[in-house]
Amino acid sequence: IDTSPPGTCIFCKIIAGEAPAAIVHEDELTIAFMDLGQVTPGHVLVATKRHAQDLYALTRAECAAVMQASQHIAQAVRQAFTPSGLTLLQANGRDGGQTVFHFHMHVVPRHADDGVALTWPRK
Ligand code: 5GP
Ligand code: ZN
Repeated sequence: IDTSPPGTCIFCKIIAGEAPAAIVHEDELTIAFMDLGQVTPGHVLVATKRHAQDLYALTRAECAAVMQASQHIAQAVRQAFTPSGLTLLQANGRDGGQTVFHFHMHVVPRHADDGVALTWPRK
């Protein structure tokens, strides 16, 4: 769990070009890069460029920019990985499943029976 102060967290280092990452998209307020863990092939993170800990800390403009960038990434991922589904996941706080405390949205391509437990059983 990464609780580093602003500017020193791993995502801030990626944004500053001080840590390597496969960056796939950037705009004024957001940056998107491949998740190191790749829950499924094509798993991308959309992070705010500003160090904001979680959803609660975002401005309205950042909220809008994150969703717009997520849709853009979703479309690119659909072209590149031809998934049959897609899951967006965004974790806040330890108990919400957050491990890097710099806001990010997960964009996860999904396939039938991929065994990924991002959705709970429903009828
Ligand atoms: P969270 O658990 O906070 O929702 O998601 C954190 C994500 O960041 C995890 O999926 C993890 O694989 C990813 N991650 C952690 N460290 C790095 C890193 O140094 N580079 C990249 N690209 N992803 C990372
Ligand atoms: Zn940060």
